[in-house]
Amino acid sequence: MGNLQGGLHECCSFCKRNKTDVELLISKPKVRVCNTCVEELLVKCSDSSQYRESRLHELCTFCSFIAKNPFLQLGEDPNEMVRNVGGPEVWICQSCLTLCEGIVLEKLRR
Ligand SMILES: [Zn+2]
Ligand SMILES: [Zn+2]
Repeated sequence: MGNLQGGLHECCSFCKRNKTDVELLISKPKVRVCNTCVEELLVKCSDSSQYRESRLHELCTFCSFIAKNPFLQLGEDPNEMVRNVGGPEVWICQSCLTLCEGIVLEKLRR
């Protein structure tokens, strides 16, 4: 379901591995993250030399999309400060990573 605009190469925006080379790829219109990166990026969230703080929805490529889409709400305070990891082109916040981790755990549980 969904129309993948410009989704010529479905690969992880962080490690650039192809969808076929990873166990699970979580896709959003502008950004994708694989299950391995979710885990690695979550680890970076606990290292102050690896993350940048910003207001929720400000830097994160994942939730900046959600913030612009009235049909998708995170239900969180947009002034809350969150940790963002990744860059320089794509960023993901701790809040989105936690959501992604839930998806990974659910889909890869066997
Ligand atoms: Zn990846
Ligand atoms: Zn986010």
